[in-house]
Amino acid sequence: MHKKLIVQKFGGSSVANVERIQNVAKRVVEYRKLGHDLVVVVSALGDTTDELVELAAKINTEPSEREMDMLLSTGEQISVALLAMAIHKLKKEAISFTGAQVGIITDTSHTKARIIKINADKIREELSKGKIVIVAGFQGVTLTQDITTLGRGGSDLTAVALAKELRADECEIYTDVEGIYTTDPRIEPKAKKINALTYDEMLEMASLGAQVMQSRSIEVAKKFDVPIHVRSSFSDSPGTMILREVKRMEDVLVSSVTLNRGESKITVCTVPDKPGVAAKIFKNLAENGVSVDMIVQNVSHLRQTDISFTVNKTEVAKAIKITRKAAAKIGAGDVLQDDDIARISIVGVGMKSHPGVAATMFDTLAKRKINIEMISTSDISISCIIKKKLVETAVKALHGRFGLAK
Ligand code: ASP
Ligand code: MG
Repeated sequence: MHKKLIVQKFGGSSVANVERIQNVAKRVVEYRKLGHDLVVVVSALGDTTDELVELAAKINTEPSEREMDMLLSTGEQISVALLAMAIHKLKKEAISFTGAQVGIITDTSHTKARIIKINADKIREELSKGKIVIVAGFQGVTLTQDITTLGRGGSDLTAVALAKELRADECEIYTDVEGIYTTDPRIEPKAKKINALTYDEMLEMASLGAQVMQSRSIEVAKKFDVPIHVRSSFSDSPGTMILREVKRMEDVLVSSVTLNRGESKITVCTVPDKPGVAAKIFKNLAENGVSVDMIVQNVSHLRQTDISFTVNKTEVAKAIKITRKAAAKIGAGDVLQDDDIARISIVGVGMKSHPGVAATMFDTLAKRKINIEMISTSDISISCIIKKKLVETAVKALHGRFGLAK
């Protein structure tokens, strides 16, 4: 059998407790017994990172970002050591490293650092001694020895970047579900596992709310053509491949229905309809680091208009404050907040070459008497903002209409 170099990444839920760490160890050892070289990247145990974030907030509500990285990186350091010990118990050789130890060099933007280069000699050396190499995900080090983290979910990025650097044969992302589904199976039990998706589809799904892989990691995979296999750490069945191009048997227009309940809508009423007004509102938001999602400007009556946009729920309080200030300056009226919204999206590279997909989506929603409050589109997706309580009906209707059901 051909000996492969495989990078395997295990997420927080796959190492949430002692039993699961032992399960991962068993799995890794089975691959090792087949003769493959293994680099194993792990996340922090379960919700450790969230807990550390909360802990920090109790000490200081505005902690220094450098110290935040120092704190958060400890989560992964626990996992790698425990996994190494679990593998030793199974009588295989393994050695754990922090990001800094294996030369993951980043820039200095703490809490969202970018990888500049990886000096992977140490990993290669340990592999050549026959060891399983375990690397702490989510972390790196600056050229001046400060510890950094790569943004939430950053262990995915560690895995993809190592796979690229080591020219791995495979990059496997292990999680607690069987792969990526046509929609959320908790809402639509007829959802099915997708065999293969393109990087672009995966990126679009991630940006629209599917919580599968960190977006940055998919961008890097796309840039360097690293094929990714998303699969379950609890079963042996194949998961979802993420690739540059996917050959599909039939004309598939839509590959998934994605939803996001994590946004709020802000409406600025009676905005004077003249140049520079939108610029003023959105410039202030941008300067304060609030990212705005969908924007709709209504038709103008009597030289006044309403502007609505969505922001992440976590930023809505800040966004409202900033927008009220801007509204007062430009002579606009009330600023309203609506949390009772959800975004429902269809994604698929197939829609690029097929007109009428949007019409079908709107028609499907209309038949269920679901009102569309906002619409936005990209090359490979269409999103609508609807009332939150209608989201399950909408998901099922669209999933069926576009032929995704089992
Ligand atoms: N533990 C980090 C986080 O929760 C990194 C990761 O899980 O990939 O964001
Ligand atoms: Mg995590």
